[in-house]
Amino acid sequence: MRFRQTLTAFLALSTALTPAVAQPTASSFSVNPNGGRPEIHNVEEMRKMGGYTAPGARAYADMAAEAGGKLWPVTLYYRCQAVRTRKPVRAAMPKPIAVFDNVYSIGTGENNIWAIDTKDGIILLDALTTEEDARNVIVKNMQTLGLDPKRIRIILITHNHLDHFGGAAYLKALSGAKLAMSEADWTAEVKWGTLPVKAADDFYLTDGQTITLGDQTLTVLLTPGHTPGTVSLLFPVKDKGVPHMASLFGGQGSPRDVASLLEFRRSLNHFADYTDLMQADVVLSNHTVGDDGLVRVAALQKRKAGDPNPYVVGREGVVRYDAEWRACLSADIDEAVFKAAPGSLNPILSGQPPRRVVETAK
Ligand SMILES: [Zn+2]
Repeated sequence: MRFRQTLTAFLALSTALTPAVAQPTASSFSVNPNGGRPEIHNVEEMRKMGGYTAPGARAYADMAAEAGGKLWPVTLYYRCQAVRTRKPVRAAMPKPIAVFDNVYSIGTGENNIWAIDTKDGIILLDALTTEEDARNVIVKNMQTLGLDPKRIRIILITHNHLDHFGGAAYLKALSGAKLAMSEADWTAEVKWGTLPVKAADDFYLTDGQTITLGDQTLTVLLTPGHTPGTVSLLFPVKDKGVPHMASLFGGQGSPRDVASLLEFRRSLNHFADYTDLMQADVVLSNHTVGDDGLVRVAALQKRKAGDPNPYVVGREGVVRYDAEWRACLSADIDEAVFKAAPGSLNPILSGQPPRRVVETAK
């Protein structure tokens, strides 16, 4: 009962969150594969839509547009807004699809779920909002692709928001999979939903850890900012046998207070160290706003023999992605500092540990 009330409040409270399986009717679908969400392609559009007023923030936002406007227009709009507005996605539920030889996109228009198939079972990245989502989206999509949900061995939860962990307990009961999440997020109090109880075979995710199942290894990074224990991942993938390195940052929406934004930017720099060190050339996200996912899935569905894989953005694409995000966070930091009340930044300036003031909803 309490869970239901909490869930109802969660769904009602947040216009930012579209319930994971709620989709518009066919007649309301946008022809734009990104679901009609706004896009920013260049500096001119950024100056119109970003809404930044501080001179430093405007400079950073211009840089973000220069870095990412061509490759990441959906993501750029989502990341770079002085005043956060989120348009609900108006797109058909994406069809489940193999994005790489053993990596499958099986999520909704908002939240992507990734299934990584190995010879010893399946690793799932995130679990949607509810048991119904897990059953009606994740399990059904896996079956459509010929993946047996009972072969899930590890469910890796990127952070402790309900739209990422809500279906995990059901999927664990179904498959016997181990759940994995950072200790900071697993032991935190959450606003919405109830975190799954950590069983003896479940485990914590830590910075620099590698997780191997069968022939697949994932590198885990601790990247707090979106939540205190958000994790991000790097893992090798193959496209028709050709090896690539995928990167996935585990939290999308940025906080609004300066201390948390600074922490987020440090985490992004940590992530970027690894995308450079491991020469990542693929960007995946757990939200379709995080990798222009709906556009890429639509392109992938039309892919013909010899066409490039739209998720392989090359080193330039990853470098531009990281730079765009860093510049957007920097714009948010500068705007927040510019507007801060006199004296309110003194604790940060005197080196006191960051205090989380605003909890992001997504
Ligand atoms: Zn979240």
